[in-house]
Amino acid sequence: MANNTHEESEIQAAGISHTLRPGRRTFIIGATAFGAAAFWASRRFPSATVEASGSGGGGPVTIIQFSPVGKAIGKVTVPRVIKTEVEWQQELSPVSYQVTRHAGTERAFTGNTWNNHDHGIYRCICCDNALFSSETKFESGTGWPSFWQPIAKENVIEVVDDSFGMSRTEVKCRECDAHLGHVFDDGPQPTGLRYCMNSAAMKFVKTA
Ligand SMILES: [Zn+2]
Repeated sequence: MANNTHEESEIQAAGISHTLRPGRRTFIIGATAFGAAAFWASRRFPSATVEASGSGGGGPVTIIQFSPVGKAIGKVTVPRVIKTEVEWQQELSPVSYQVTRHAGTERAFTGNTWNNHDHGIYRCICCDNALFSSETKFESGTGWPSFWQPIAKENVIEVVDDSFGMSRTEVKCRECDAHLGHVFDDGPQPTGLRYCMNSAAMKFVKTA
């Protein structure tokens, strides 16, 4: 039951601009804009403050680096990737920009990796940070690429997300702060977690 609620909510939260009915479309876009504004106003700045006291604000972050074939190389401390809105907009496709920099959600079954079964690793579309391995990907039936754990817990950040009247846990890239998706507790073993990601937030690098 909780599962369905999450997914329906996620679909609504997506602010899908492809909805056919004009009245509904206007409402959804308005709600999304409000949600995004509320997100930036209420969470962006306190979150930045917390980061500033903990790790030096825009200072370096420590992540686990992975080779092109998906092998863990070890911990590295790298500068946090910080770019302007204009730079992100120039570098990313519209959907990737909306998802990663404005906590958007792509429409279910529209991304290019929800049904990908190749072996490889999923890296951040914004900064190349390794995020997930195909070894932990599973069929969630949601239309979004789903994993039961990140490739390294150091490489992502999980924060409480109270937007859209729901309490969810948002998953972000540690290196560049990109929004990736949400994590729910209705996943398969061994973790019981479901990292519900956006294809548009990641690039897949095939390893075999
Ligand atoms: Zn990133």
